[in-house]
Amino acid sequence: MARLELDGLRKEFDGGTIVAVDDLDLSVDDGEFITVVGPSGCGKSTTLRMIAGLERPTSGRIRIGGEDVTDTHARHRDVAMVFQNYALYPHKTVEQNMAFGLRMSTDMSAEERAERVRETAEMMDIEELLDDTPGELSGGQKQRVALGRAIVREPDVFLFDEPLSNLDAKLRTTMRTEIQRLQEELDITSIYVTHDQEEAMTMGDRIVILNDGELQQVGRPTDVYENPANRFVAGFIGSPSMNFVDVDAEPVDGGLQLTGTDESFAYRLTAGRADAFGNVTGHCVLGVRPEHVSVVDGSADADDAVPARVDVVEPIGSDNYLYLDLGTDESGFDADGAADFVARVPTDVEPDVGDVVDVAFDESAVHLFDADTGEAIRATAEPAAPTQ
Ligand code: ATP
Repeated sequence: MARLELDGLRKEFDGGTIVAVDDLDLSVDDGEFITVVGPSGCGKSTTLRMIAGLERPTSGRIRIGGEDVTDTHARHRDVAMVFQNYALYPHKTVEQNMAFGLRMSTDMSAEERAERVRETAEMMDIEELLDDTPGELSGGQKQRVALGRAIVREPDVFLFDEPLSNLDAKLRTTMRTEIQRLQEELDITSIYVTHDQEEAMTMGDRIVILNDGELQQVGRPTDVYENPANRFVAGFIGSPSMNFVDVDAEPVDGGLQLTGTDESFAYRLTAGRADAFGNVTGHCVLGVRPEHVSVVDGSADADDAVPARVDVVEPIGSDNYLYLDLGTDESGFDADGAADFVARVPTDVEPDVGDVVDVAFDESAVHLFDADTGEAIRATAEPAAPTQ
């Protein structure tokens, strides 16, 4: 068990033309489970490989349990990694695969190794597979063995590189729970890389969001969901994605008036909510999640409702998704016909395609972002200065 610290960790490739990881600072507490998420190419695997010692950082330091391991060979770091493709030795039995790492990294006797493998196999429910070779196993069983092989070493740090991506959806859900249970039981500091934001949100004590090699936000899943630091995080976390609309903000008596930049709609936040955004004025981006949009009856003239035309109604069983063309201008709805706004509504809200409905937003869940930088606008920040 150990605390893991990354200090200004950087990795360049091709003589600096590619910056895979850009000065990353991160502290993972002893026993904490951190998920790292971001789009393809954002630097997730490179970060993990540097922690494992498989990739040498261009600059920055890595500390495990307070000890600087940046220049320590992978074999001498007390770290176990689980890969997407299992990385099992095909000609060794499950037992031999599990014992191999122990043989390399400890001076245990053969009996001690056999005992440790047997205990771990029991914990993982794979005792019956010990004499099989990987070719005889299903994908789920292989991943169980790969996990067992990591666990048997009782490492200081677990690293998971998209370990469930090759499994079908049902098995993935089962394995997620299992990994969480094991991690809790063993209390081993863990970093789990995935491109699946739902996986990251459900599994992590905290979640790290990367984009283009840069850290975007670290926080508990609910914090990141409720208070995204910027537009990238807001759009990446949550499914369907947060809706964004370009608006002009203008403080008015009793609130903040938001007008679509194409003047397609107007919406007013109450003074109570407007306070959260400080003295914002001018061009910014309104963000609201589909689950915070509701259909209200006949209040299009109200300050806090916006007319919208229904383009698609998509029932998903528990709810309906409405794809909406938001707002009107003098000549009617946007001519492009593209549904640009999604609402997640109860199943009894089922308008017809082409209907015009009034939508309202849960204003406590409305976000504003700087139009240039994408940073979330907050009252506590330095005076937000969106462009005019
Ligand atoms: P994915 O989810 O697709 O695996 P990732 O977030 O894990 O992506 P990395 O594999 O860490 O991303 O790659 C980060 C960036 O570094 C990418 O632009 C990638 O092309 C580049 N990169 C990674 N390894 C190398 C390498 N050995 N040589 C050159 N460029 C590399």
